[in-house]
Amino acid sequence: MAEKLSDRALEIGANVERFVRDIIIPYEKDPRRDHHGAPLDALVYEMREKARAAGVLTPHILADGSHLTQLETAYVLRKSGLSPLGPLAVNTMAPDEGNMYLIGHVGSAEMKERFLKPLVEGRARSAFFMTEPAGENGAGSDPSMMKTSCKLDGNHWVINGRKAFITGAEGASVGIVMAKADEGACMFLVDLPDPAIRIEHVPNTIDSSMPGGHATVIIDNLRVPADQMLGVAGEGFKYAQIRLSPARLSHCMRWHGCCERAHEIASDYANRREAFGKQLIDHEGVGFMLAENLIDLKQAQLMIDWCASVLDTGSLGTVESSMTKVAVSEALMRIADRCVQVMGGTGVTDATIVEQIFREVRAFRIYDGPTEVHKWSLAKKIKRDWKATQG
Ligand SMILES: Cc1cc2nc3c(=O)[nH]c(=O)nc-3n(C[C@H](O)[C@H](O)[C@H](O)COP(=O)(O)OP(=O)(O)OC[C@H]3O[C@@H](n4cnc5c(N)ncnc54)[C@H](O)[C@@H]3O)c2cc1C
Repeated sequence: MAEKLSDRALEIGANVERFVRDIIIPYEKDPRRDHHGAPLDALVYEMREKARAAGVLTPHILADGSHLTQLETAYVLRKSGLSPLGPLAVNTMAPDEGNMYLIGHVGSAEMKERFLKPLVEGRARSAFFMTEPAGENGAGSDPSMMKTSCKLDGNHWVINGRKAFITGAEGASVGIVMAKADEGACMFLVDLPDPAIRIEHVPNTIDSSMPGGHATVIIDNLRVPADQMLGVAGEGFKYAQIRLSPARLSHCMRWHGCCERAHEIASDYANRREAFGKQLIDHEGVGFMLAENLIDLKQAQLMIDWCASVLDTGSLGTVESSMTKVAVSEALMRIADRCVQVMGGTGVTDATIVEQIFREVRAFRIYDGPTEVHKWSLAKKIKRDWKATQG
């Protein structure tokens, strides 16, 4: 395959990489980085001013509002991911990157001006409200179990329900809320904070790179003007599909960058550290782990680029992004785990960023579809395809 990257992608990617390595990596020692809440937000906006000054803010969206191709985006987002702080600094982070994509593709001109512009300018954060608490058997792996309801009342929709794991809800100023009407699933754009959307709690989680954490939220008689419905009633799951594949793939891109960095750090450790009379890398057990990292990194990158090229044809890429999400998240987990192992005790401390990368990648095997759910839907496709051959 090996499609040639455009000159503009190479240039933007090089600028982003330089910025992340020179300016952002030193922030990894900043005490504000380990919190989901306000301290991390303050750090984010500080880094963004530096990104703005360096001309690398929101690098995947061009000045005229158009997007880089997915293949180009893959290169640039991998560079932004060289630090877990990189995507926050240059505004390629989740969930904003996927939310910007969705509003850009489905939103009206007014919505783009009001909700998208501040996000692209890096002056606001957003949240995507789909999942619901497991204890209430709401939407999770199976979004069709959604219980949050919306009812038309005059010129407003009234929304009630509870949501869980809503990344960035605390501190966001734009929300995309999913709820069910008689017509089917609907999506709304809302201004945050709103007294009718209450943060119930923000659980402690394994990861720590996403400002606001992953909140459980109560939505109590939220009134949304009818013209803030994204698209039309009943099409909410269709719009979720538009967001799904690119958003899923962008996680693969960012975390690939992180694992490339973890591999650099582990390789450095293995070349400097000695045991039993030689450098660690000269022990086959260590050298082979790093060799396997190199192989996994390349395979993951090729899978990302392949899926990106499929999306660039205009396809929804549902099957391809499922395959890629499974392959890449599982490969990145293996890489992060090997990096920790190669570094011995140091690997499990916060002396390097490897420890955080390991935690972040673990969570990635669950969000945007757990591995098993993607495999299950691929198996269903295999069965469908088989049936189609049976006359
Ligand atoms: C860090 C993080 C951030 C998140 N951010 C957001 C967000 O911003 N907005 C949002 O709406 N949601 C968000 N989520 C929620 C995420 O999308 C869900 O966790 C995910 O869809 C799984 O749903 P669940 O947690 O309810 O797991 P469950 O549905 O309870 O599933 C549990 C496990 O069951 C297995 N399983 C389920 N179905 C099948 C199947 N068909 N075949 C085989 N095995 C199966 C899988 O192993 C799965 O991990 C986030 C989650 C995390 C962890």
